Amino acid sequence: MLQRYLFLLLLVVTSARLFSQRQDKVDFTKAKVSILVNPDSSEITGKVTYAFEVLANVDSVFLDARNIDFFSVKLNKKKIKYNNNKRTITLYKRLKKGRNYLVLLDFKAKPKQAVYWLGFDDNTDGNEQIWTQGQGKYTSHWLPSFDDMEEKVEFDLDITFDDTHTVIANGKLQNVKETDGLKTWSFDMVGPMSSYLSAFAIGDYDKQEIISTSGFPIENYYYPQDSLKAEPTYRYTKEIFDFMEKEIGVPYPWQNYKQVPVKDFLYAGMENTGATIFSDAFVIDSVAFVDKNYVNVNAHELAHQWFGNLVTEKDGKHHWLHEGFATYYAYLAEKEIYGNGYFQWKLYDTAIQLRKLAKDGKGEALTNPKASSLTFYEKGAWALVILRNQIGEVAFKQGIKNYLEKYEFKNVTIENFLDEMEATSGKSLSQFRRLWLESPDFLFEKAKEHLMVSSTSVAAFLNLKWELTTSLEDKGSIIQKYWEQATDDELKARIIINYHKSLSPELIGNAFRSESIKIRRELALGYEKVPLELKTAYESLLNDKSYVTLENALYRLWISFPQDRAGYLEKTKGIIGLPNRNVRLLWLLLATLTNNYDNDLKERYLSELYGYTSPQYAMEIRRGAFGLIGEVFKYSDQNIKDLINATVHHSWQFRNYARDLLESLLKDDDQRKRIINLSKQLKDNELRYINSKLNLQ
Ligand SMILES: [Zn+2]
Repeated sequence: MLQRYLFLLLLVVTSARLFSQRQDKVDFTKAKVSILVNPDSSEITGKVTYAFEVLANVDSVFLDARNIDFFSVKLNKKKIKYNNNKRTITLYKRLKKGRNYLVLLDFKAKPKQAVYWLGFDDNTDGNEQIWTQGQGKYTSHWLPSFDDMEEKVEFDLDITFDDTHTVIANGKLQNVKETDGLKTWSFDMVGPMSSYLSAFAIGDYDKQEIISTSGFPIENYYYPQDSLKAEPTYRYTKEIFDFMEKEIGVPYPWQNYKQVPVKDFLYAGMENTGATIFSDAFVIDSVAFVDKNYVNVNAHELAHQWFGNLVTEKDGKHHWLHEGFATYYAYLAEKEIYGNGYFQWKLYDTAIQLRKLAKDGKGEALTNPKASSLTFYEKGAWALVILRNQIGEVAFKQGIKNYLEKYEFKNVTIENFLDEMEATSGKSLSQFRRLWLESPDFLFEKAKEHLMVSSTSVAAFLNLKWELTTSLEDKGSIIQKYWEQATDDELKARIIINYHKSLSPELIGNAFRSESIKIRRELALGYEKVPLELKTAYESLLNDKSYVTLENALYRLWISFPQDRAGYLEKTKGIIGLPNRNVRLLWLLLATLTNNYDNDLKERYLSELYGYTSPQYAMEIRRGAFGLIGEVFKYSDQNIKDLINATVHHSWQFRNYARDLLESLLKDDDQRKRIINLSKQLKDNELRYINSKLNLQ
C-alpha cells in the first residue's frame, strides 16, 4: 500500500504484522464467495465454499473469522463438529493425506474494521460508499479467510447489493443478475492470492475504459460529477502500465486492472489484486495536476501487482520485497514520464531524509519488520538503485524476471531474491546485503556519489552548496553563476527555495519573468511579507495555473497590501483549489475579515466556511476548516459536534488530529462546560469517547 498522505511522508509503521497461526498440512486452493451487503445493519451475510487439499494426515483444520457467526458448517456436504472462538473457526475431522475436500460456511459478519460504510446516515443522496481494506485490518472481519499471507487462494466473489450502486471487486465481471430491486455481481479471478488482497468497493461510479498495448482491460472509476477530472486524475495510466510490463519483463499477472477512488481512505492507495482502491483526495482537475497528482500512487500500486501480489513476502522481515520494489518501480515510471532529472531529484530528497534519520540515531535496517515507512519505501528504493548499479542493468533485469517467474503465486524471502540476483550477475551480494539491507545506517556518501554521475542538475546543486561553504567569493555571485548555467527549472526552483534571501534583485526579476510554474511557485512561497518593489511582479502570481501558488500568493498579498485586499479577493473569487479546497477556505476567511468587501454576503461566506467541518465533506477539507476557523474565530456548537464526531473517525491521522484539538479545547473552562452540554446530543460511540476524556480530567 502507499501510506504517503498529501505531501507528507509519515513516519509510521507499515508492515502488516501477522500474528496468525500457520497450518501447513492443508492447502486451500479455491473460494467461491457469495455475500449480501446490508448497509442498514452494517452486516455482511453469505456463504463461502473453500476447496482444499490435505498434504499430511491431520485432525482439524481452521480458518480465521473475527467476530463472525456461523449458521451452517459443512465438510463435503455433511455437517461437522466445529468450534468458533470468534477469532478462528476450527473444524474437527480426521483428514487423510492426498484427499480433497470442500468446506461450506454460512455466515454473518458485523465487521468493526476492514469494511467502511460512508454516507448512509445523512440526507445527501448518491454519496453512499462501502469499501474494504484488508492489509493491516484483516479480511477475516468480513470473510472467513486466512490472516496468514502464505495461504493463497483463488477468490471468486458474488456480491449482492441494491440496484442503484456500482459494485467493484477483484476479478473479471462475468455477469450482473437482477432480482427484486437487488443486483448480484459475479466476479471471476484467475490465479491465487493472499486473503489481505481481496476487496470490494460499492458506490456511485462511472468509468473510463482503456486497454494496455498488451491487451489488458483497464477500468478507471470516477464519481459521475467528476467526469472532467477523469483525464487529469488518470493521466499517463496507459503509459505507466505499458512501461511496467516492459521494464519488469514479465506480463501483468492478472486478468484486468481497476482503480477506484473512495472517500476518507486510510492510506494513499491499496493494491488489492487487480482492483486498486485509492483516496479520492487524488481526484484532481487539470490545474491541480502540477501541485498534486495520482501518477506516483498509480504506478506504485500497479508495481505491487507483481511485487507483493504475485510474489508475496513470507512475513514482515521481508517487507522490502513489497514496498521498496513498488517505490522503486514507481520512480522508474515517473522517470519515463518526466525524465531523468525528476527521478534523480526525488532520490536526492529521500537521501537527505534518510541521512537525517540515521544522524538522529533512528536509522533502521530494511530487514527490521518494525521499520518505518521512510525505511521500507525510500531506503528500500535506494537499495535497488545501488544494486542495479552494482550488478549492471542486464543482470538486474534478468534476475528480476527469474525471481518473478520462479516464485509466481508463492511466498518469498529476501534470501530468495538475492539468490536469483547472484545467479544472474555471478557476483556475491553479501556485502550489499550487509551494507544496504542489514545496517541501520544510510550510506549517504555512496548515494551522493551515485547522484553526482547520474544527474548534471543535482550535481550542480551539490557543487553550489560546496562552493558556498568553501569559497571566499561573494555568495551572491556564486549563486548568480549557477543560476545562469542552470539548464532546467528544477535546479532554479531549488536555488530559490534555499537561497532566495541571497539572490540579487536582477536574478529575482529574472525568476519572476520565468514561465515555469515550478519556479514561480517557489517565489510565491519565498516571502512572508511582499516587498513593495516586487508588488507588481508578485501580483502576477495570481494568474498562475497552480493552486498552491494561488493560495500562498493570495494570503501574502492580503497581509502585505491592506488597501488592495478587495481587488485580490475579486480576482480569486469562486476558485475552489485542490481536493482539500485550499483556495476556497482561505478566500472565505479573508473575505469575512476584509472591511467593506461584500458586506451583505459576509454572513453567507462565514456560514459556508463553518459548514466545511461537517462529516459530509472529505476529512482533508474538514481539517482545513477546523484549522482556519480555530485560528481566527470561535467554534460554533455545530463545529464542536463535528469535531467530536471526528474523534471517532476511522482514519487514525484525522482521528488523532481531532482528539488533540478537542483536548486543547477541554483545557478551557468555558469550552469544557459547553462540550458537556453538547454531549447530550451525541451518538453512543462519540459519547463514550467524550466521557472517557471528561472522567480522566
Ligand atoms: Zn505500497
